[in-house]
Amino acid sequence: MCGIVGYVGGKDCADILVDALSKLEYRGYDSAGIAVFEGDRIVTEKTKGRLADLTEKMKKGHKPSGTSGIGHTRWATHGEPSDVNSHPHGNAKISIVHNGIIENYIRLKAFLIDKGYEFESQTDTETVAKLLDYYYNIEKEPIKTITRVLAEIEGSYALGIVFADYPGKIYSVRKDSPLIVGLGEGENFIASDVPAILKYTRDYYLLECDEIATITSDNVTICDIHGSEIKKEVQHATWDIESAEKGGYAHFMLKEIHEQPTAIKTTVSPRIMDGMPFLEECGITLDMLKSYRKIYIVACGTAMHAGLVGKYVIEELARIEVVVDIASEFRYRNPIIGSEDLVVLISQSGETADTKAVLRLAKDMGATTLSIVNVKGSSIARESDFVVYTHAGPEISVASTKAYMVQLSIMYLLAFELAYANGKITEEECKALVSELENIPSKIEETFGIESDCQYAASTLVNAESLLYIGRGLDYALSMEGSLKLKEISYIHSESYAAGELKHGTISLVTEDMPVIAVATQDRLFDKTVSNIKEVKARGAKVVMVTKNTVDVTSDVADVVVKLPVVRDVLMPMITVVPLQLIAYYTSVLKGCDVDKPRNLAKSVTVE
Ligand code: GLU
Repeated sequence: MCGIVGYVGGKDCADILVDALSKLEYRGYDSAGIAVFEGDRIVTEKTKGRLADLTEKMKKGHKPSGTSGIGHTRWATHGEPSDVNSHPHGNAKISIVHNGIIENYIRLKAFLIDKGYEFESQTDTETVAKLLDYYYNIEKEPIKTITRVLAEIEGSYALGIVFADYPGKIYSVRKDSPLIVGLGEGENFIASDVPAILKYTRDYYLLECDEIATITSDNVTICDIHGSEIKKEVQHATWDIESAEKGGYAHFMLKEIHEQPTAIKTTVSPRIMDGMPFLEECGITLDMLKSYRKIYIVACGTAMHAGLVGKYVIEELARIEVVVDIASEFRYRNPIIGSEDLVVLISQSGETADTKAVLRLAKDMGATTLSIVNVKGSSIARESDFVVYTHAGPEISVASTKAYMVQLSIMYLLAFELAYANGKITEEECKALVSELENIPSKIEETFGIESDCQYAASTLVNAESLLYIGRGLDYALSMEGSLKLKEISYIHSESYAAGELKHGTISLVTEDMPVIAVATQDRLFDKTVSNIKEVKARGAKVVMVTKNTVDVTSDVADVVVKLPVVRDVLMPMITVVPLQLIAYYTSVLKGCDVDKPRNLAKSVTVE
C-alpha cells in the first residue's frame, strides 16, 4: 500500500522527497506529506489529496528546507483521508511515516491515553508515534526505543522514523510491508519500492523483518532487535522504471495475483481474536448475527461472484437463506426486503453506482446494511450501517484478482461467525475453520508452483473463438469468475454453465472447436461433474480440467489437467480461483492484449 521515502544527503530535500514519492504514485494514495529537518527542528507539511496539492500547499505556505527528511503517500486504512490523518505523525521530538496496519492499536491507544497522551487523528499510525515518544522518554536512545516499540506492536509495518535529537539520521524498520535502503554517493535513501530511488542510485539493501536500519548521508548500519550488527548484501537494480513499478512482473495483474497471500493475511488477521472470527471492531456482534431472516448479497461483476461463493458457504454452514443478485437488476425489481433482513453490498472501490443505489434502497426499506469495501472513506463505506474493509491495497489492473480474493476472505469470516452465532457449529469447529483460513496464504504460495501448467493450458485455448466453463456448486461460482476474467482481458467469448444444466440446451454448441474448462474440486459432486465432462468430450471438445492433486484423471476425461493443493472443500474456492486467474492472464498475454487496461472497461464503474 502507498509509499514511504526518506533522504539524507547534501541536497535540499523537499523536492527530492516529493519526486521520489511521485515514482510510487502507481501504488495508489489519497494524501501526502513530508517532514524535513530544518537544523534540529522537524518541520512537517501534509495534506489530503495528490502530491500536486502538497506542492501547491508548500508553494503558498512554507516549503521546509533541509537536507534530510521523510515522506509519505497514504492509502487510508484507519480513518478517512484528511489533513490530520495524513502522515508524517508525531510531535516536536519524533516524527514517523508508516505503511501497513497496526492490528493491536486499540489496546495500545488505551494504554497511552491512560498515560496521559492525547490523540488527534483516527489512524493506527499515531499510536506508534506516541509509543515511540513514551519509550524514548524512558530509554533516551533511538535503537533501544524502537526495539521496545517493536516488542509491543502487532501487524504489518514499514516505518521511517526521525528523532529531533538526531538530525541528519533516519531510522527504519519493517515487517510484512516492503522497504529498501537506497545507497548513493554522499546520500542515502529509504523507499517502499525501487522506482523511488532509480533516478539517484541503483544499489540498495533489502530490509528483512525487524531489521533496524540507521541511515546518515555517508553510512548505513543495520542491526537486529538485540542491537547486533548485520552485514547485508548490496542489491543492484537492473530494471527500467516501468518494470520496477511492477516489481519485476510483466503486468500489474500478475503482480496482484502474486500479492494475494499477503492481501489475505492483512485482511484476515486483524479479524481474528483467540482463534475465533472477530468482527466486533466493525460493530458486528454475535447477537446481531442471530437476528436475520434472510441475507441479500448485492454487487456487480467480480464482486458479485465473491457473493455467490458467500451464498454457498453461508447456507452450508449457517443454514440461513442467502439471495445473491446483480445490483443493476435488484434495484429495479421492487425487491422484498425489510427490517428482518441483512443486505450485504460488495464493492472494491466503494463507489460502484448501482451498488450504491441498492444500499440507499435497502436503507429506505428498513434493512440493515453491511458493506465490504476496499477503499477507505468511499461513499458506500460511509453510508452503510456497518463496513468491513478489505485490506488488499490499491489494485491497479482493471481485471480484479486480489480484491476478489479478500472479498472471499470476508465472506468466509462472516459465514463462520454467522454459523457460530446461530449455533450451527461449535466453537471448536469454528476455530478449526478459522485456522484453515489462516493457512490459505501458504497454500496459495504452493499453488503458484503450477503456474507453468496454467500457461500451457492457456496455450491450448488461445485460438478458440468461444469456450465454456462448467462446474457444480462452489465450482460453478468459480467457473463464473474464471469465465468473466477470460472475457475481460483476452476478448475470447466464453460462457459459464452449471455442469448439470448443459444437456438442457447449451450442449448443442459443443464441437471440437469449443474448448471446455471443467472445474471439479468438490468431492460430493466430483463424479457428477465427470459425467458432464464425458458428455462434452463425446462431442469432440478439448477439456482443461481444474481439480485437486489427489485425483487421478485419465486422458479419456481431460486433455489438460491442472492439479491443485488440497484444503477442505468449503475453502477450495480460494485456491481454485488462482489457476483460473492465471489461465485468463496467460491467454491474454499470448493473444497480445493490453492485460492491465482491457478495452472498454473502467476500474471503478461510477455510472449506472
Ligand atoms: N494504517 C495507516 C493509516 O491508515 C497507514 C496506511 C498506509 O499504509 O498508507 O494511516
